[in-house]
Amino acid sequence: MNIEHLNKLLFEKANTLSSIASGQASHEQLDQVCLDLENTISIPNAQCAIFEKIGDNFYFIAAPSNKIERLNDIDEVPLSYFGYKPDRPASFDLKYRSFELESNIQTPSEPTATPSSPTNILHTVGVPIINDDNCLIGLMVLFSNQELAVNRRQVEFLKFFSHFTSAILTAITASRDNELKIEALKKSNEKFRAFTKVMPDLALIIDETGLYEDVHGSPDNLVYISATEIINQNVNDIFPPADAEKIMSVIGAALATDKTQEYEYSIQGDSGVAIFEGRITPIHYNTDESEKAKHVLWMARDVTEAKKTQKKVKQLAYFDPLTQLPNRRMFNERLELTVDSKAMSQEFGAILFLDLDEFKRINDSLGHSAGDKLLKDVSERLRSTLRKSDILARIGGDEFVILVENVGKTLEQAQLEISIVANKVQDAFTAKFEIEELVFQVSCSIGICVIDGTTNAQNIMKFADTAMYNSKRQGGNSYSYYDPQKQTLLDRQLTFESDIVSAIENRQFCAFFQPQVDRYGKLCGAEALIRWLHPDKGMIPPDEFISVAEQFGLIQSLQDIVLEDICKLIKTLEVEAILPQDFKVSINISHSQFKSTNFRRLLMDTLDKFNVDPSFITLEITESMLSHDISQTVQQMNEIARTGFTFSIDDFGTGYSNLSNLHAYPVQELKIDKSFVDRILDSSGLSIVETIISLAKNLEMRVVAEGVEDEKQVAVLKGRDVDILQGYYFSKPLQFEDYVQWHKNNLLAF
Ligand code: C2E
Ligand code: CA
Ligand code: CA
Repeated sequence: MNIEHLNKLLFEKANTLSSIASGQASHEQLDQVCLDLENTISIPNAQCAIFEKIGDNFYFIAAPSNKIERLNDIDEVPLSYFGYKPDRPASFDLKYRSFELESNIQTPSEPTATPSSPTNILHTVGVPIINDDNCLIGLMVLFSNQELAVNRRQVEFLKFFSHFTSAILTAITASRDNELKIEALKKSNEKFRAFTKVMPDLALIIDETGLYEDVHGSPDNLVYISATEIINQNVNDIFPPADAEKIMSVIGAALATDKTQEYEYSIQGDSGVAIFEGRITPIHYNTDESEKAKHVLWMARDVTEAKKTQKKVKQLAYFDPLTQLPNRRMFNERLELTVDSKAMSQEFGAILFLDLDEFKRINDSLGHSAGDKLLKDVSERLRSTLRKSDILARIGGDEFVILVENVGKTLEQAQLEISIVANKVQDAFTAKFEIEELVFQVSCSIGICVIDGTTNAQNIMKFADTAMYNSKRQGGNSYSYYDPQKQTLLDRQLTFESDIVSAIENRQFCAFFQPQVDRYGKLCGAEALIRWLHPDKGMIPPDEFISVAEQFGLIQSLQDIVLEDICKLIKTLEVEAILPQDFKVSINISHSQFKSTNFRRLLMDTLDKFNVDPSFITLEITESMLSHDISQTVQQMNEIARTGFTFSIDDFGTGYSNLSNLHAYPVQELKIDKSFVDRILDSSGLSIVETIISLAKNLEMRVVAEGVEDEKQVAVLKGRDVDILQGYYFSKPLQFEDYVQWHKNNLLAF
């Protein structure tokens, strides 16, 4: 290296170094290095080119003095073409391709043709470009179309320049990588922006102090403030203090744990409360992953609609749509929880099972909308009567249940507490219900079961239901506790019920007739009394099965049997011409028949079938049937009376009817109960009978004395204003044929 060369070199080196240092690595600099090398080496026609290694290939990157025509042909030359072997990246055996390596510097290589045609001879000498990590990143090559004789010094130059080249090439690659990265980042940013634009969610970037740094998503979602306004605001400025505190604690938790948090919150917007569901995840902006994140990405989703739907679904699944009260399912779940908790606590709970009395009648006669209105009114009254902690549910048609969680630590205390609740419930029915301009008195039957943690929820419901039935059987409007003995009774009744059903099918029921005579002893009528002629058990008296039949809805079938037998009797007497003009057969009417809206129609169906006139029939009802809803009852009775039937009040004096109302009903007959007739020979017994007689006479009613068993009684009654007598003294109830015989004998006797 002569002085001139060295000066040149140092000068060029200084230039190049300063430009690299100023961060201006560029292709021009590579070009400059090539020119410098050509100048320095000073081989005529020799030209310098630089190749960059990308993957396994070399790519031509600089050749400023492109005097060699064919240079472009080697634009893309595989590294292997130059004798590169992957296991020896830094040591080139380029001899074969007229390249010289250090080991072979002194002997210029034989000129060789490039493998591809055309066959122009190109002489090359090259050195690898190695980076700081000792990796091959390119080649620095001298080309000539003349033979290249390169001495050691010139190779030194080549190597010297290859160091510069390495620095420049590394800088270029790095900046290109950065560009690519930036490009990729731009793309992913664009994607993110597009994504956040179409997604229903709102994406907020918030720093650890609560500052909103960035917002993406539809601004409409920001019900409280617009997107542009929110940036650079603080959570604490936007939310009310309590909400802001909660939100900041969630952000804090996300940053502290480095885990995604979920948070639901609501915002009072112009169009009501909006509910948001937030997912808060920490973002690591810092490259050092171990350092704590200082930002969170808060994805907020407006779930107001979804919540509404959810609520509706839940409402449908757990609430009764009519009254909005919890339904059976919800109640059962609550009851199960309560039962579980009672298993561990010392305290009792209770359920009250309510069933409205006579609901079916209201529903049938006034229609469903009136029935619905009544149920709503009842539920409102109950709700306002009960404490907030008590659970009221509607579990079926007219069935309500109340769960009272804590009623005391002893059974006595519990019963006292429950009776207070039960009385309150009954009081809620004291005031009349007004529906569609009609006024009703409604009552309910209540069954109570104490929860002590030993009985499961299902049985508790069953027991309370059983107890409710006991209240019903006592005439309704009362409450009863579940009593295991009564359960046995109910079980027996259930078997009994199916016995009755098959007995009806097997025609084991029939009417017996007990004659009635007037005060002169003349036969004037009969009372039909049902009998069960059981093939094994013999005759079963009605007191044993009437209430069960009534309870299980079988009484109508029994009434039909009795009424048919009455019609047959009247027809028989008529045919035999032994039917007196004013002869009357009375039939006992049960509570449920009397209350049913089609009572008259069902009576007439049978009478029409046998062509019997209603004037032969007396309907025996009891005082208790008259105690409800006077105007409605009077109206219905009038209609029936107009058809020709006669009404009689059975067992008179044993009920608690409001005697002052008696005149309002179309009743023609009072039957003095047997218990008074029994005591008629005492002065106190007699005075009761006399009072009833004078009451009846005042109201222009007939008086019947039943259960007359002896002559003395007959004498006393005949001395009073009694119109008709009935009892064993005259005859026991008789089977059809026996009665007809008795009738014949006695009718002719007078
Ligand atoms: P009730 O309507 O008061 O019927 C009178 C009851 O007294 C009858 O009992 C009758 O056999 C009985 N009896 C009549 N005279 C005497 C007497 O001199 N001495 C005594 N010791 N008893 C007398 P029975 O037939 O057992 O009927 C009992 C109750 O069953 C009836 O009381 C009535 O409430 C009901 N019942 C009977 N048949 C029917 C029916 O077809 N339908 C309905 N719904 N209830 C009926
Ligand atoms: Ca009777
Ligand atoms: Ca009676």
